Amino acid sequence: MTCDLLIENAAVLTVDAAWNLYEPGFLAVKGDSIAAVGPMAVRRAWEARTVVDAAGKLLMPGFVNAHTHVAMAAFRGACEDVDDRLRKYIFPLEARLVDRDLVYRASRFCLVEMAASGTTCFGDMYYFEDEVARAAREAGLRCVLGETVVDFPAPDCPEPYGGLGYGLDFISDWAGDALVKPCLAPHAPYTVDAEHLRRVRRESEARGLPVLMHIAETAPENERFTASHGSVLRYLDAEGALYPGLVGAHMIYLDPSDIALAAARGLSVAHCPGSNAKSGRPICPAADLADAGVPVGLGTDGPLSGNGMDLQGIVGLFPKLQKMRRNDRGAVPARQAVRAATRGGAEALGLGKVTGSLEPGKKADLVLVDADSFGLQPVYDWYAAVVYSMRPSDVAATYVGGRLVWDRTGMKGFDQAEAMADVRGVADRCRGVIAELTGGAS
Ligand SMILES: [Zn+2]
Repeated sequence: MTCDLLIENAAVLTVDAAWNLYEPGFLAVKGDSIAAVGPMAVRRAWEARTVVDAAGKLLMPGFVNAHTHVAMAAFRGACEDVDDRLRKYIFPLEARLVDRDLVYRASRFCLVEMAASGTTCFGDMYYFEDEVARAAREAGLRCVLGETVVDFPAPDCPEPYGGLGYGLDFISDWAGDALVKPCLAPHAPYTVDAEHLRRVRRESEARGLPVLMHIAETAPENERFTASHGSVLRYLDAEGALYPGLVGAHMIYLDPSDIALAAARGLSVAHCPGSNAKSGRPICPAADLADAGVPVGLGTDGPLSGNGMDLQGIVGLFPKLQKMRRNDRGAVPARQAVRAATRGGAEALGLGKVTGSLEPGKKADLVLVDADSFGLQPVYDWYAAVVYSMRPSDVAATYVGGRLVWDRTGMKGFDQAEAMADVRGVADRCRGVIAELTGGAS
């Protein structure tokens, strides 16, 4: 049998339902999909145009970053360590600085860090998502991109809720794209009224698209809807705005009946432990959600909220915080954390049949990890090594749909030095406004 790309002699972590691990193993790619994966003993049946000898390397599914705002890389490190940052700084910063050019340049810059740390797929919510789509297509990364719908004038729409029209145009322009899945992203229950939440649901269900939204993230939001309906989730449910395909980012303020409700309504969760910790918020009951059957993926959140865009910084934090929350060292074993960072994220974003594990028929979204690093050796358990020891710099190569998108020589889709120069130029444009907002303390 012939294929286009064959990776051999690697330790192959499939993250399939049976937790198959082939050491040494191989993986065959035909077109953009995985044709076969298995132990080296059965590799002989395959001929390939390109053969990669991956001895000493780990081959695993690409990381899926289930929640981020890549264009916010423009503001990374600004306005840190202050209360109510969203309303005091972020919204005003966006109103004054975010334009089409900033979104494109900052997104392209951010995607370099993501590809270089082994992320092959991401879920994003922002403005001018068509520019994020353009950057993602150049980078060669898979993504679910949600155009923001919000009740105030946004950088890309002067009218409140203008994101709905903008988003529907974006969806029709990018329909059927091999890598980019466009959709709508109502900002949050406290910035989008119930009528528009239902409209987003109708438009999305008619097109079979997921919906991305921040849910139960902030204390004022929790207080408001707990007073009126018992909880944020019960408010959404009472308004007909809790449904399969809705991906809730954060989902911090949940009681046991909210968890049961999330499972019953077919919700997915993008858990962002790094940005939540940095914001001083309670710990999301992510392990309880997963135990209840809710698909749980992991996200960095945007570079302003989570800073590092690598999933290595999140995949270990997830079990550590759940162990703290449950006061149980056994909570979230390492392989469950690996699953959440790959397959769980794909399932949460509605791409569970497309990516997230190394199985024949799925897209060839893969990472080769250099397992000979001083931080990783010795390896007794590959899952523990990925969760607790792996660093972004251990990634040797990242493939999406069988295409090499990054290796140690850099991005394949564009010049990453140019992306770096671009973001420095963008930051120079932002400096004055940031200094003004923070009283010169940026
Ligand atoms: Zn967010």
